[in-house]
Amino acid sequence: MPGITNTFKAVHRAIKAAAGAVNLGEYQAAGAPVQCPHCRHREFNLSPNLGGGVNLACRKRYLVLWFAQKPKAL
Ligand SMILES: [Zn+2]
Repeated sequence: MPGITNTFKAVHRAIKAAAGAVNLGEYQAAGAPVQCPHCRHREFNLSPNLGGGVNLACRKRYLVLWFAQKPKAL
């Protein structure tokens, strides 16, 4: 089941990356700061997404954004 194995590896990498980073909660994707499209807040909590990539949950706790690639922490 290579697909499942790769997913677990990606989750493991994401957890390690999240734990190792100084987490200010601000991220950049494709050269642009990540901003909540709902409340315009710019601070997020990052977590792995089991379907691949990562989730950024707005710290106002309403909206979750799903990224195929991990955005760069600022
Ligand atoms: Zn928000």
